[in-house]
Amino acid sequence: MQHEIEDIEYAEYLFDRFYGIGSSENGGVTRLGYTEVEDEMHRVFRELGEEKGYGSYEDQVGNTYLYRKDCDMDEDYCLIASHLDSVIEGGRYDGVAGIIAGFLVMDWAVKSGLRIPVRIGAMRCEESSNFGRSTIGSGLITGEVYKHDIGEAVNKKGETLSEVFRRKGYSLHPDRIQGVREYIELHIEQGKVLEEYGDRVGIVQTIAGPRRFNIHIHGNAEHSGATPMGMRADALCAAAEIILEIEEIGKSESIYQSVATVGTVSNRPNALNVIPGEVELGVDMRGIDSSSLDRMETRLKQACKRICEKRKLKYFREKISDIPPIGMSADLQQKLLEAAKELKIPHRPMISGAGHDAMSFAHICDTAMVFIPCAKGISHNKKEFTTIESICDGAKVIYQYLKEEAR
Ligand SMILES: [Zn+2]
Repeated sequence: MQHEIEDIEYAEYLFDRFYGIGSSENGGVTRLGYTEVEDEMHRVFRELGEEKGYGSYEDQVGNTYLYRKDCDMDEDYCLIASHLDSVIEGGRYDGVAGIIAGFLVMDWAVKSGLRIPVRIGAMRCEESSNFGRSTIGSGLITGEVYKHDIGEAVNKKGETLSEVFRRKGYSLHPDRIQGVREYIELHIEQGKVLEEYGDRVGIVQTIAGPRRFNIHIHGNAEHSGATPMGMRADALCAAAEIILEIEEIGKSESIYQSVATVGTVSNRPNALNVIPGEVELGVDMRGIDSSSLDRMETRLKQACKRICEKRKLKYFREKISDIPPIGMSADLQQKLLEAAKELKIPHRPMISGAGHDAMSFAHICDTAMVFIPCAKGISHNKKEFTTIESICDGAKVIYQYLKEEAR
């Protein structure tokens, strides 16, 4: 569909205002959650709101919100939100696209005098890149991060979340967010489905639940020249076998749309002349089918046991997250699909392989996600790209839905 030139220009302006923040030399951005760079993103977010005459506030964990000053603050509202943090050397659209969509929808709502109260939300620390935990900001305010040890999660600098919160004046036990009638998040797809099918918008049915593990393997760090092959306990070799086994597990469950990845390896002492004595693997399993996830977990346990016993190594496995697959509101899905149809924007229902703040909100209110294509499905990478027109497409679908609701 054709968009108004002023909408395109406004979206471009918003994108440019965030552009330079956290830029890294290689061309990507590093905007880790609960760092000064993320603070700066939120500062600009509020500034952009002020430029439009919106009110703003911050909650007890640092999430920030914009609202129309002419709306009754006691009335339930539609929260259009996403996040402003990024992975290490990530792209500029993950999260930010949803924030831009929020500004567009709010702008149209104001201009047309739409009666439905809308707020824009920017959630903190959605990515797990800093603390090894995702959706911290949205999880805390919806009561979803109940893990007793979340405060002990450690960031890249070695500080705990508790320490960071104390310094910033935030609370690990904030009040639950009030008044959200529904939560809608626009996000880049981070996959290739829309592009492959030539669709412009995807309406999410289910968000795959991540199950994550750390596997610690303990061998003996000994001299690589003086220790004969038969006398070694090489933790990295065991890790290599486990990694390949996990790939097999993922492949065999792929018919259920499950995936399994070893995304991190830490090898100690990581020296050329020392046999690896300690290895830690970070395993990420996802799917929309709980029994498939259960099978993958069982096979992971069996693989660790078998491989480490065979090699006479000690190991220890910890589950660091277990979020079940989460369905989006059927009613909202339907209405958003109808809105896309009405606007003649090619669309499709689809699943989300990636986790989002919407998972936290799905527990407390009607929740929906609108996906837009990103070039070649690339995300969490400096090459991540979507067009401003695509952001406008998705925002239009959300706005069309709200317009229908306001009737
Ligand atoms: Zn994201």
